[in-house]
Amino acid sequence: MTWSIANQSLLEADLLNQESIYALGNGYLGVRGNFEEGYREDMNSIRGSYINAYHDVITIPYGEKLYGFPSTQQKLVNIIDAQGIEIFVGNAKERFSLFSGEVLSFTRELKLDQGYAERRIHWKSPSGQELKLIFRRIVSFASRELFVIDVSIVPISVTGDITVVSTVQGDVKNYTAVNDPRVASGHAKLLTTTAIGSEDDIAYVQNETLTSKLSVSCAVAHSHTDAKQRELVAEQQQVSYTAVFAGDQPITFTKWNVYTDTLRHGEQSLETAKQKARELSGTGFTQQLELQQQVLSKFWDKSDIVISGDAALQEGIRFNIFQLLQSAGRDQYSNIAAKGLSGEGYEGHYFWDTEIYMFPVFLLTQPEIAKQLLLYRYQILPFAKERAKEMGHAKGALYPWRTIAGTECSSFFPSGTAQYHISADIAYSYIQYYMATEDVQFFADYGSEVLAETARLWMEVGHERDGRFYIDEVTGPDEYTCCVNNNYYTNVMAKNNLAWAAKSLQLVQQSLPESYEQLLQKLELTVEEIDSWSRAAQVMYLPYDEKLDINPQDDSFMNKKVWDFANTPKEKYPLLLHYHPLTIYRYQVCKQADTVLAHFLLEDEQSLETIKHSYDYYEQITTHDSSLSSCIFSIMASKIGYDEKAYHYFRETARLDLDNTHGNTKDGLHLANMGGTWMAIVFGFGGVRIKQDSLSLAPKLPADWKDYQFKLQYKGRSIEVKVTRGEVELNLLSGDALTITLYGQSVSLNQGGSYKQKI
Ligand code: BGC
Repeated sequence: MTWSIANQSLLEADLLNQESIYALGNGYLGVRGNFEEGYREDMNSIRGSYINAYHDVITIPYGEKLYGFPSTQQKLVNIIDAQGIEIFVGNAKERFSLFSGEVLSFTRELKLDQGYAERRIHWKSPSGQELKLIFRRIVSFASRELFVIDVSIVPISVTGDITVVSTVQGDVKNYTAVNDPRVASGHAKLLTTTAIGSEDDIAYVQNETLTSKLSVSCAVAHSHTDAKQRELVAEQQQVSYTAVFAGDQPITFTKWNVYTDTLRHGEQSLETAKQKARELSGTGFTQQLELQQQVLSKFWDKSDIVISGDAALQEGIRFNIFQLLQSAGRDQYSNIAAKGLSGEGYEGHYFWDTEIYMFPVFLLTQPEIAKQLLLYRYQILPFAKERAKEMGHAKGALYPWRTIAGTECSSFFPSGTAQYHISADIAYSYIQYYMATEDVQFFADYGSEVLAETARLWMEVGHERDGRFYIDEVTGPDEYTCCVNNNYYTNVMAKNNLAWAAKSLQLVQQSLPESYEQLLQKLELTVEEIDSWSRAAQVMYLPYDEKLDINPQDDSFMNKKVWDFANTPKEKYPLLLHYHPLTIYRYQVCKQADTVLAHFLLEDEQSLETIKHSYDYYEQITTHDSSLSSCIFSIMASKIGYDEKAYHYFRETARLDLDNTHGNTKDGLHLANMGGTWMAIVFGFGGVRIKQDSLSLAPKLPADWKDYQFKLQYKGRSIEVKVTRGEVELNLLSGDALTITLYGQSVSLNQGGSYKQKI
């Protein structure tokens, strides 16, 4: 059953997590896996529907606000609740609920291959009325605005009618949590209802955010078997549609929810929603299931990873890949939030998580989505340039640590704005895109500009002294070590950024000379400036400790005392929830992979020995309190030859949300970790690397597996990789002949051909 995530629990704590796990989305729209009819009143639920990038702007409350601290931040808004469907049974109109009467059976499933969620229920009311129900819901990949719910009710023993009440609720709030910086700050109510009513059987609600004044509309149509009575009533902030059915007949009831917003649909968004609800409700649920299935079968054809030997891991991997698909924004306004569209954790913000942990998955499986993710960063470049000025830099672009619309939304600069590396991370993803597609035109149109502006940032923040280039006062990925000089990760990524800014312009000059001239003009670039980038890259200072043969995380790291791990009880983790940041900063203790990550991203900068010694060193002092860590330790353990460790760390990633191992799945899924699972297989066990002129592989088979296989999209080719005990098989499924590197040796793959090698 590795194509389905099934669950039977009705415990409150499980249900909160399941709301995230059973969330459906299509990159535009996301709906948490709430029960249509709700829980019992005393039970907690985070009931949520979201549109990617649809946000309000709120004032950041500061005790002390210093220069350059952002005044406002964006926040993903819980929109209009169209999940509601209540069912009343029999003459006594008993309300259907899984928390009353008797649940004779209950299973919920997320169908990963078909893209829908389902609940199957056999229920007996307190007075003995008996029903079987199936709820199925789709957030459509074919029509991004559509969220459709189909309910089938089979009366087993019912006396009287069955009444179905479907609601569209405009009175919604964001979830507010106490004392967890990973969730969200206050500001529960972010919307007012600006229009509500019904028109030709379509119920609609339009809400507007309080400050950003963005509108969201939801128009809902209903189709169902013959009803004895129907009524549509709009009151205050809710529209209800009631249909009464004879209780001795099977009923199907389909609710067609169409969402639009002003960012994507302009001033006509409400009219567009009504129009689409009318059209889509005419198609039928079965047709929507088929359309969904078509999109998914194309998706899985390129993105699936098949593993024989461990069903639980296989399930975890497919779940993670599916959630990545559900979360990725596909337009210029949106990207992938840290929690996707599955919850409100981290306020729906986009971080470096996208570029370093998720972009690679799309780049090598769905390059069109990868391109969209880059275009979003291009779209917000003007904000990044503005922010660089605000931060005292004459030129360049400083990308916001966390954002939706493009401005910095982090109020805690030591582990926010100070993470300048995000600019180099974005540059890195543009470079990787070029390496995997050879698309020079994309450099000319977008990439070179991003690379040039980010290179300018490094020239601004860094400085050359005695023939070395230094970067002071920044924070690397490890949020337990802040505001340091010469963070190895930042310096080496900046080096790459600077070198490639110059190289990308050279490539454009060679292939598209006119575009090159235009770029020079547009960016007011001189050859001297470009040369200065190459020089800074060449002389970039990379901290190195000769005695230990490791790269120290930064200039002061090795002087600090090592955290007292032996006397830190389990319940004190994650440290960030139990110690003041300054306490943590004073010690050698890492929240997540930092230097080890740099060694993965830019492995040719150091010898394998230094990489290995560094791994051994940092492993001892890394807590993995961030879910962005284990996958990187897995990849690097594979590289070094620590095969058992590679597998151990991989296992930590594969089912992190399914098993709620970080304890906060209820706030949303850990999307970066989900990308990390894919990376731990493809880059870790598969040994895949994308370098300037080659795709290289060095597959290994974990001891517990029988075999595994995956596909890569690379330079217009589709390549299948199968690894069994003793053999690697490569199949060039489509595209022209290609030479790749396998275990360090060149291998030619012919058109449609296959290559096998003993291992
Ligand atoms: C991690 C960051 C990450 C953020 C959002 C934090 O806990 O330390 O690296 O970007 O979560 O996922």
